[in-house]
Amino acid sequence: MRREVSAGGVVVREHEGSLELAVIRPRGRRVWALPKGHIDEGETAEQAAIREVREETGLSVTLEADLGPIHYSYHFRGERIFKSVHFFLFRFHAGDIDRLEEAMREEVDEARWIPLADAAHQLAYRGEREVVARALTQLKGP
Ligand code: ATP
Repeated sequence: MRREVSAGGVVVREHEGSLELAVIRPRGRRVWALPKGHIDEGETAEQAAIREVREETGLSVTLEADLGPIHYSYHFRGERIFKSVHFFLFRFHAGDIDRLEEAMREEVDEARWIPLADAAHQLAYRGEREVVARALTQLKGP
């Protein structure tokens, strides 16, 4: 059984009095999703998530909380692949969304801010909607 592990970010900022979430449209997929990607050798999940967020959205971020993993499986060339993606809650620090290195256009069609409140019906994947719900609980505090 093949397994893959990636890491990603729920990146939030406060803008004109309300919270926004950074989302991406992966190349050629007509869906909105969270920035994420493969963990390179020698990287921690947190380092990979910060790097992937920067590469896929153009944003630099600071860590707020560990949100834990999501799990899903998909088929690739007849093989079932089980995947875990470890997510972190990040605060926006600096950068312009969607100002990406040219090479990143191979992976991302567009990155943009959406109202955090819209995430539940904009994000295509259930696991990502669930991880945003965990982030909301975290942001509301104990
Ligand atoms: P990575 O961004 O981690 O390097 P990738 O782009 O190679 O990964 P995925 O984004 O995992 O691969 O996509 C592989 C398949 O899984 C695609 O068909 C995609 O639509 C689907 N997929 C992606 N994220 C999810 C999810 N959270 N839940 C269910 N299916 C998903």
